[in-house]
Amino acid sequence: MSTTFDVINPATEKVVTQLHEADIAETDAIISRAAKAFLTWKNVSPGDRANLLRRFSSLVTAHREELAQIEINNSGHTRGNALWEADNVANVLNYYAGAPERLFGKQIPVAGGVDITFKEPIGVVGIIVPWNFPMPIASWGFSAALAAGNTVVLKPAELTPLTAVRLAELALEAGIPEGVFNVIVGKGSVVGNRFVTNPTVRKISFTGSTAVGKSIMAGCADQVKRVTLELGGKSANVIFADSDIDRAAAAAPGAVFDNSGQDCCARSRILVQKSVFDRFMEGFEKSVKAFRVEDPNLDTSQMGPLISKKQLETVQSFLGDKDDAVAFTGSAPTGAGYWMPPTVLMPKSVNARTWQEEIFGPVVSVLTFEDEADAISLANASDYGLSGSIWTNDLGRAMRVSRAIESGNLSVNSHSSVRFWTPFGGFKQSGLGRALGPDALDAYTETKNVFFATE
Ligand code: NAP
Ligand code: MG
Repeated sequence: MSTTFDVINPATEKVVTQLHEADIAETDAIISRAAKAFLTWKNVSPGDRANLLRRFSSLVTAHREELAQIEINNSGHTRGNALWEADNVANVLNYYAGAPERLFGKQIPVAGGVDITFKEPIGVVGIIVPWNFPMPIASWGFSAALAAGNTVVLKPAELTPLTAVRLAELALEAGIPEGVFNVIVGKGSVVGNRFVTNPTVRKISFTGSTAVGKSIMAGCADQVKRVTLELGGKSANVIFADSDIDRAAAAAPGAVFDNSGQDCCARSRILVQKSVFDRFMEGFEKSVKAFRVEDPNLDTSQMGPLISKKQLETVQSFLGDKDDAVAFTGSAPTGAGYWMPPTVLMPKSVNARTWQEEIFGPVVSVLTFEDEADAISLANASDYGLSGSIWTNDLGRAMRVSRAIESGNLSVNSHSSVRFWTPFGGFKQSGLGRALGPDALDAYTETKNVFFATE
């Protein structure tokens, strides 16, 4: 019996389309198809594999407007973001198209023979992605995996499956053989869990919540299945008195409210040095009030709706706590759609739930610190360590603090976290392993060592 579900536009609450939800038997069939395709894909010459990825990249660029519009309708992303996301997929594919011809091992000096290491593909890679950045996050996994000679089964989040389905069509159109890049739509607890339990899948690349990530890691232990985890965050935005306070205040809303705060890198904890608190808050309030929350189709839109009614309710459940005070809010449309204004909190202590937990919505908390040591210990008092920003004009301090903060990605006088040629990933409970850059290829290859006796 076929089960279908509705895909909803979060800005209008209208049904965009209905899709079939895969079951375990269908998941197993797709995994078998990927395993069969692996037998030929791993032997496609590096040059041919590179050309196919380049062609796929060009097709994504040719369809950037279409892909962006699908994402706007499915995810409520602003037009500016959605176009960036489509371009990011094309860039990441093009970047990893350079890999097949550069992925080589070493020759290691030994007595009595020749010793060589080989970088071999792992096999079928299961990629499970969340709903917050459906296109880029999927492409970070599948581009590196395919370049290294693996085949892929990709499970998008049920809330946002549409761009993944379209990308699979474009891959075929580019000439990537049937069975090499597969997208299967269904529930995490069914399809995603089957990727974990089916032994034909040799590696899981999971992006999502820390809670689900932990259960996936535990599930992978049984088969010693390879696993990469990109999980949650509660990143610090640390503003020192010696920084350009006006710039820091103008940049802070985008650093947390972009994508409606549904961003693993969101700087959702602002730490301001006490001596400049009033000045920072004055500038910050002005920039939050000017932050445009509106129809994501408009070029001027800086923030759209939240992804779902459930997510809106989850985020709202964090508000009104006795440990918090609302400092100020921005504005948001009323009527249909899952809208919420950007909200700035002043927690009464570091124990406030809103200071500790990832909210994944347009909510930010502000606390003050005395000095550098205080800032570092406050920033590090978190189970997470994904991202963060440091604002200072003292070079020595920038160096000291960026080395002391326990986080996989930091930016100084900036909020930029993601460049496709640099590594991305988390410390502590924010993840395991790295995406992007050359480092990611290690996550999609096995190293084999062979000794050839010559005597
Ligand atoms: P989630 O609930 O953990 O779901 C992520 C994906 O896992 C979805 O495709 C989901 O499927 C699937 N899934 C759920 N339960 C599963 C299970 N038992 N076995 C296998 N797969 C399962 O996360 P989310 O709510 O979609 O996304 C928000 C979270 O992602 C936040 O915590 C955010 O910080 C994190 N995130 C991290 C990064 C990073 O790079 N570090 C990037 C983006 C997001 P269905 O939803 O379809 O059921
Ligand atoms: Mg979820």
